[in-house]
Amino acid sequence: MAFKDVGARFMSRCLSYFSKGNNKEITVLVATAGDTGSAVANGFLGIKGIDVIILYPSGKVSKIQELQLTTLGKNITALEVQGTFDDCQRMVKQAFVDKLLNKQLSLTSANSINIACWLPQQFYYFYALQQWPYEFKPVISIPSGNFGNICAGLLAYFSGAPVRHFIAACNSNDVFSDYILHQIFSPKLAIATISNAMDVGNPSNFVRLLEMFAHKHAHIKEVVSGCCVNDEITASTIADVYNKYNYLLEPHGAVAYRGLLQYLEKHPDEKGILLETAHPVKFDDVVKTIVGMEVIEIPESVNDLFNRKKKSIVIKPDFNELKEFLIARN
Ligand SMILES: *Cc1c(COP(=O)(O)O)cnc(C)c1O
Repeated sequence: MAFKDVGARFMSRCLSYFSKGNNKEITVLVATAGDTGSAVANGFLGIKGIDVIILYPSGKVSKIQELQLTTLGKNITALEVQGTFDDCQRMVKQAFVDKLLNKQLSLTSANSINIACWLPQQFYYFYALQQWPYEFKPVISIPSGNFGNICAGLLAYFSGAPVRHFIAACNSNDVFSDYILHQIFSPKLAIATISNAMDVGNPSNFVRLLEMFAHKHAHIKEVVSGCCVNDEITASTIADVYNKYNYLLEPHGAVAYRGLLQYLEKHPDEKGILLETAHPVKFDDVVKTIVGMEVIEIPESVNDLFNRKKKSIVIKPDFNELKEFLIARN
């Protein structure tokens, strides 16, 4: 129920295909704040030769995301870390540089740093363009965190997709607008927002965006704009769009919607498309406070989750615990 599902599925099949004939099982290690982990868990479920370990911060992911992470079983194991997302990420990063672990296991990651995750996302853009009813080209607004999704759009653009302009729509973690304005890229610490899958202060794909434009700031500025939408405006956008059109956005899509509106106010002759990136039910804890729970349509697959049993292994936010767990498992 998020756009990352497609990327995770594609990547899992690639990994399985290209490691055929390896005698060692591959261990995929992922730290998640919620959304990446549930996509990876579902995308990698049952894939041969791949063992998936997901670290998530206890009590800090939504109920549904937690069920998506912890109820699948098979080759998916959830480690419930008694700490924050940053603890999870630090532990995973330490594992990737640990000599002993890397000698005993074939470790790999599965997030938007991995290009196999976002190559297939180009199709979203072509699929949208196929439905575009106008003669002129659209502006496309993308809710952005690590900039994987927008980089996929830019790849599509460079291979000929007819797009007029891109908007990298960010929440209060907006380092991109600063870059567009001042030509200086200065990473910051992430701020917590209601569109938390975009709480990124140092987008990992930013260097790729620079490379695609051969580091030419003037060219980047011509093709991509930034924008910053705070929580208050995100929430009022969800309410406005629901009241006006009876369409329920979730917080990330609302950031893109608002970003597109702001751009079109300044460019009244243009029209645009926005990417919505998740089902509102994944962020129901936020959405229900704005429009009420009864408005959120609950898909059957989610109802099914509530009948399953959560299975997680609780560990301390300590790298040595993770290391011992991985070695014992091997
Ligand atoms: C990951 C995510 C984003 C941001 O995508 P990036 O490729 O990291 O820019 C936006 N919305 C949702 C729901 C996400 O899970």
